[in-house]
Amino acid sequence: MGSLMALLDTYGRAHRDLRISLTDRCSLRCTYCMPEQGLPWLAKPTLLTTEELIHLARIAVGLGIDEVRLTGGEPLLRRDLVDVVAGISALGVEVSMTTNALGLDKMAPDLVAAGLTRVNISLDTLDRETFKTLARRDRLDDTLAGIAAADAAGLAPLKLNTVLMRDINDHESPALLAFALEHGYQLRFIEQMPLDAGHTWRRDNMVTGEEVLVRLRKHYDLTPAEQRGSAPAERFLVDGGPATVGVIASVTAPFCGACDRVRLTADGQVRNCLFATTETDLRTPLREGASDEELGELVQACITAKLPGHGINDPGFLQPARPMSAIGG
Ligand code: SAM
Ligand code: SF4
Repeated sequence: MGSLMALLDTYGRAHRDLRISLTDRCSLRCTYCMPEQGLPWLAKPTLLTTEELIHLARIAVGLGIDEVRLTGGEPLLRRDLVDVVAGISALGVEVSMTTNALGLDKMAPDLVAAGLTRVNISLDTLDRETFKTLARRDRLDDTLAGIAAADAAGLAPLKLNTVLMRDINDHESPALLAFALEHGYQLRFIEQMPLDAGHTWRRDNMVTGEEVLVRLRKHYDLTPAEQRGSAPAERFLVDGGPATVGVIASVTAPFCGACDRVRLTADGQVRNCLFATTETDLRTPLREGASDEELGELVQACITAKLPGHGINDPGFLQPARPMSAIGG
């Protein structure tokens, strides 16, 4: 377990949730995330090794982190994924993963054996043609196979993440919820954020959380569930429960005041926010032999500098230089 000493920022927020991006590469090219041709990938020597990742995770756990989520890019593309999961899980913290599930059908049992407890799987559509348009790859069946395998391997509760794009898949929200209800998965709709590499995000074209609820309510009775605490999703009981659906309205209803997240990129930079415009380099001091205490002080300094909010709604908002796939969503 993490120590009682939590990473506190100047607004009193304690940080207990570490998101580690394992790679900036991906097997899909979701339009809201990555350009068709991919991106200039991080140079191999800059990527943290298995040992370095586990070392930094151990320092974070010593600073009060008690939950680690692996993400990317696509974490399933990391060849050492099982070792990373085992190494971090051995620190006594919960290890979960956000994934597009391509290849999870083969890996789910090994990941569970290594200590993985939960997965969030991205599923934006149940229609093969729409999947091809949105993710630019004909892989819907593979995603569905990955979801079924995660379920069969006992990764529960299994959460599904959906980003709705206007006139592409926004009409599918009731069908996606029906799919989730049928299988006992927890579906969450995420507002599209200005984090795509192509800088194509436009506020007036974003499907808002409110719009999602209006459409779903034509098919389902939704009543607010419990208080959400530090969880970003506002949850609703579906037809009286116990099943729920979540809406993550990061843009129209920011939850920065309750944020408990800190991020580590695949090349060893700590970020105090998805939207931070600065990062703290841990890789260089780590490789130069800095002590755990010195590295811990760098993490704390990064958290101390955390701003109160992401500022997407401020006139002077600047999209971070790195896209979501390189930061770790
Ligand atoms: N490749 C994995 C996946 O897709 O689940 C993990 C990384 S991905 C960057 C993590 C999550 O971020 C996914 O649920 C994805 O839908 C979401 N995401 C990516 N770009 C986004 C954007 N511009 N706005 C909102 N969510 C986004
Ligand atoms: Fe890949 Fe995930 Fe980005 Fe889609 S959202 S391109 S699956 S990193």
